Amino acid sequence: MPKAPDIAAHDASPLTGKTVLVTGGAQGIGRGIAQAILGAGGCVCIGDRDVEAGKACIDEWQAGTRAHFIAVDVAREASIQRWIAAALKRFGRIDGLVNNAGIAHPHVAPLSELALSDWNRYLATNLTGAFLCCKHAMPELKKHHGAIVNIASTRALQSEPDTEAYAASKGGLVAFTHALAVSAGPNVRANVILPGWIATDAWRKPSERSKPSLSRRDHAQHPAGRVGTPEDIGALAVYLLSEPSSFITGQSFVVDGGMTIKMQYA
Ligand code: NDP
Repeated sequence: MPKAPDIAAHDASPLTGKTVLVTGGAQGIGRGIAQAILGAGGCVCIGDRDVEAGKACIDEWQAGTRAHFIAVDVAREASIQRWIAAALKRFGRIDGLVNNAGIAHPHVAPLSELALSDWNRYLATNLTGAFLCCKHAMPELKKHHGAIVNIASTRALQSEPDTEAYAASKGGLVAFTHALAVSAGPNVRANVILPGWIATDAWRKPSERSKPSLSRRDHAQHPAGRVGTPEDIGALAVYLLSEPSSFITGQSFVVDGGMTIKMQYA
């Protein structure tokens, strides 16, 4: 009889030797993901349009050559191409891409007042930006059995009034992810995380940083008993970027403390 596989030790640094690009990585959830990547032994290149926030990350992390910031606007293809080329020059390889940059404010206007320019602005950043980053990073990701993690929202599944543009951009990102996973496999995997309420106040640039002001009710309404943090998203992103998740692709993961499985009838 063949010997059963040995007990494998848990790898606390599964991203050692890997480089991951994170859009919108200088603040909020993106910064949480970038820090989780560094904590897992990886190198990170954050791309963000907020230069003050990007510089603050590099100052505060003190991660040496493992962390780098390059200004990028994911709504502009030429800017994305420059960002990816510069990251490749700096690190010599790209193993992972996290498409996190987005207009995070879901409320725009009632449909009758929703300007086409506003609709297009949400789609351009939240959906087209992810498409363009995937397109231009793909040749390099394919060389290294890379992984893509997109950041959508539970608003791809449920809504408040006057949030059509945001919801459509995030629903599009979910569909884009499973289509991409089928096309890009087996060399590249793609998954999408749908965060619920994530408190980002403590993860903003120093000039705007504050302690989250959350009530007992804010926390208690969640089946998990609390509002989420960027670390909650970072932990799953690291898993989806690393080897132990190599049989997982095209999937959507809700990280919302249980809010979308809770019965809502009044
Ligand atoms: P934040 O606004 O806190 O951080 C986003 C960062 O991305 C900012 O630094 C922002 O810069 C930057 N950014 C925005 N647009 C662009 C762009 N076109 N190109 C490059 N960088 C850009 O957002 P969150 O951390 O709250 O959200 C991150 C992602 O998670 C978003 O996609 C959001 O939709 C999603 N999400 C967030 C939830 C939450 O509760 N926080 C819940 C569900 C999903 P600037 O400050 O200049 O705008």
